[in-house]
Parts: sequence; structure tokens; C-alpha cells
Amino acid sequence: NPTCRLCRLHPETASHIFTQCSFATRFWIRPSRLCQLRLVASSSPNATNLFSWWRREVRHSSGVGRLKINTLIVLVCWFIWLERNRCVFNDMQRSEQQLCYLAIDELADWKLAGFKGAALIR
Ligand SMILES: [Zn+2]
Repeated sequence: NPTCRLCRLHPETASHIFTQCSFATRFWIRPSRLCQLRLVASSSPNATNLFSWWRREVRHSSGVGRLKINTLIVLVCWFIWLERNRCVFNDMQRSEQQLCYLAIDELADWKLAGFKGAALIR
């Protein structure tokens, strides 16, 4: 089925799932606030695909800030992808808040594993 399983409204494309889907958009807001970063992907009319959006977000940072943003983007995209797969293969879906708590737990594990990018996000 080519329809996005997270919102059940739009065709499933990479750009849609990660930056435009209403579920993903709501999920992005919480981690961005927690990490004191401004990463609201769908707010930009130029966010036509994931990679151009990612490059745009990273372009305005350097060094530690860039590592922090890249870490957050990877973390959030990973959890959106896991949730998409959970919907497709198990026909189950968590709320954005539940997914956020899981992502925070994952981030703690990344910190324990010694990943520098994760240690930057508080
Ligand atoms: Zn969607």
C-alpha cells in the first residue's frame, strides 16, 4: 500500500515520512525543544526532500553544533522509521509522546556507549 501508514493520508515517500507527515512533524517538535534546537522540518516551504532539508539545517552550524544537529536528526529519523515499520508490519502505532520517551531512552544508551554526539544533547 503506497499510503503513509503514520498519517494514512498521503503517498508514502521518504520526504513525506521524515519531514512532511503530520505524525513526524509532531514528533520532531518535542526532541527539538528538549535539545534546545530549532528543527521543525515541515515549517520550511523549501523542505522538498529529506536531504536538502538536512543540508539546510546543518549549513548554519559548525563543529560541536553540527555534530549535535546531525545526532538529533539521525535519532529522530531512526525512530520515525522504526515507528513506520511497526505500523506496516505489526499494525500498531504509538503516540508521538510515547515515541519521544523511547527516543530519550535510546539517546541515554548512545551516551553510555560513548557516542560524543549524544553526550552533547541534554
Ligand atoms: Zn504521513
